[in-house]
Amino acid sequence: MRLAPRAGHSYLTESQGVVTYSDVIMHCPVCRHGDTKVIDSRSAEGGLAIRRRRSCPECSYRFTTYERLESAPLMVTKRSGAREPFDRVKVCFGVQSACKGRPVTEGQIEALAEQVEDDMRLAAMAGTEITSSTVGHSVLEHLKEIDEVAYLRFASVYKNFDDASDFRRELALLKRS
Ligand SMILES: [Zn+2]
Repeated sequence: MRLAPRAGHSYLTESQGVVTYSDVIMHCPVCRHGDTKVIDSRSAEGGLAIRRRRSCPECSYRFTTYERLESAPLMVTKRSGAREPFDRVKVCFGVQSACKGRPVTEGQIEALAEQVEDDMRLAAMAGTEITSSTVGHSVLEHLKEIDEVAYLRFASVYKNFDDASDFRRELALLKRS
């Protein structure tokens, strides 16, 4: 389903009646333009959130917003045992460096990071403890679908491949699946 609320227009929603969007303007984070357009809306996190893709008519910057129940941030347990909030930007950076020189678009990387966040939230809701390793596995799972070379690069960093035989073993696994 696609929704495109516009400032000043009223919309009927099932649960809340009339909603007027004049007071819910999302400013462009880059140029501060006062009215960004929603170009795509879909449900995420198993229907518990709405993901909106927005575009600034002034500078064409595109970004994503989420609407979700207010809840505790998604915490990730690191190898050291320390816990930190899940950071989608960090996931993007990690994947970006694995994709250097590969035919993978920024949009694909952003979408991957969103999918990983969705996966992690669902897993957390199901009671799974989210660790760096859980996040890494999810990244690999999605990266495999996009680019084999980037997948292997990410795997070699993430899995701490010791030598070329590890790399070959992974390659063989990849070819088999
Ligand atoms: Zn802008």
